[in-house]
Amino acid sequence: MRGFAGRATVEDALSWLDEQTQRLPEEAVSLGEAAGRVLAREVTSSVDVPAFDRSMMDGFAVRAADTMGASAYNRLSLSVIGQSMPGKPFEGQVGVGNAVRIMTGAPIPDGADAVLPVEVVEIEADDRILAQGDVSPGKHVGRIGEDIRRGTTVLPEGRVLRPQDVGVLSSIGCSHVPVMRCPRVRIVVTGNELLPAGSRPEGYRIVDSNGPVLSAMVARDGGTVINPGIVSDTPEAILDAMRTEADVALVSGGSSVGQEDHAPTLLREHGQLAIHGIAMRPSSPTGMGSLDGRLVFLLPGNPVSCLCAYDFFAGRAIRALGGRSPDWPYRQVTVPLGRKIVSTVGRLDYMRVRLVEGRAEPMAISSSSVLTSTTRADGFVLVPPDSEGYPPGSKVEMYLYD
Ligand code: AMP
Ligand code: MG
Repeated sequence: MRGFAGRATVEDALSWLDEQTQRLPEEAVSLGEAAGRVLAREVTSSVDVPAFDRSMMDGFAVRAADTMGASAYNRLSLSVIGQSMPGKPFEGQVGVGNAVRIMTGAPIPDGADAVLPVEVVEIEADDRILAQGDVSPGKHVGRIGEDIRRGTTVLPEGRVLRPQDVGVLSSIGCSHVPVMRCPRVRIVVTGNELLPAGSRPEGYRIVDSNGPVLSAMVARDGGTVINPGIVSDTPEAILDAMRTEADVALVSGGSSVGQEDHAPTLLREHGQLAIHGIAMRPSSPTGMGSLDGRLVFLLPGNPVSCLCAYDFFAGRAIRALGGRSPDWPYRQVTVPLGRKIVSTVGRLDYMRVRLVEGRAEPMAISSSSVLTSTTRADGFVLVPPDSEGYPPGSKVEMYLYD
């Protein structure tokens, strides 16, 4: 076994990575598929919504001036000359002393400038009402373009589309939405000791947990997972899997410098191994590079190392490829430390912590092979390479998993 010649800093690895990642091209999807996707271009409306003045109440479209002075004690008579229904306007003109029966959402007829709600009307006959209250011009009228003005931007580029965004797109007549293509991510799980996810552990064999963790994180970051299964631990099979049609390949396990660690050698020989060995804990035996134009991440097999390496590097790249913010999707809080954190100078530490009565408590077991150190934790604290750690009570920035 050879050791790592030297370890890159996290910063170096990130800056190499950021140089490699460009947004993928856009694609058009139908409205029904657009929610949750990233809008590739800002959307400007070419129409007014609503496209006509409309009634906000059920009642009668009138000339406001005709209702002046009307009250329960001074009822004013108006003649009903027709009706306006949603989608079926009244075609004529509302003259002095006229009223048109109108429904909510129906177009305001020409000549009318207000709606007298049905509550302040006494219906005397089919063609005659008595106004028992007055309305001012514009009352209960929804104006053309009050929701969306023609020519205005309704949604910005880069927006992760909400359900209501899709509604707005529909209301301006958009049938297909320009969105970022989702990065396709091949997950290559290696390790002869592994049983496929969904099995029971048996004898000395352990069940793959990295595949399910990575699949979920890729989905969270807007990627499409391709075949997250176990690949036999031979150079041929791993190379073949790394070459699957995809934008990114994640290789779990065998990322270090041991006899059985094939992926780094393969990447060096067939592509580029840009970074191998990073000054951090866990995840020090992480590698990254490219093969046939796609990014390849070599993630350590230890479950916490795998998760952490994904989160630091692969997740960032996948989000950026898909047009999302490269930043972590974790909320940050500043909290006092419950117990001291000890760290080694020269590497960045990813410390899992629990929140106990508002204080961050480092997990007692912090081995990178103990995955429950991440499920029992509420989040993590980073200790930078130049720090030896923090005494109890010091304020730290905590990233929350939820
Ligand atoms: P490796 O990086 O392949 O040397 O693996 C380091 C440790 O992680 C070993 O104890 C492996 O058994 C374990 N390991 C590797 N891959 C996985 C996996 N997919 N799920 C759970 N544990 C794994
Ligand atoms: Mg292995």
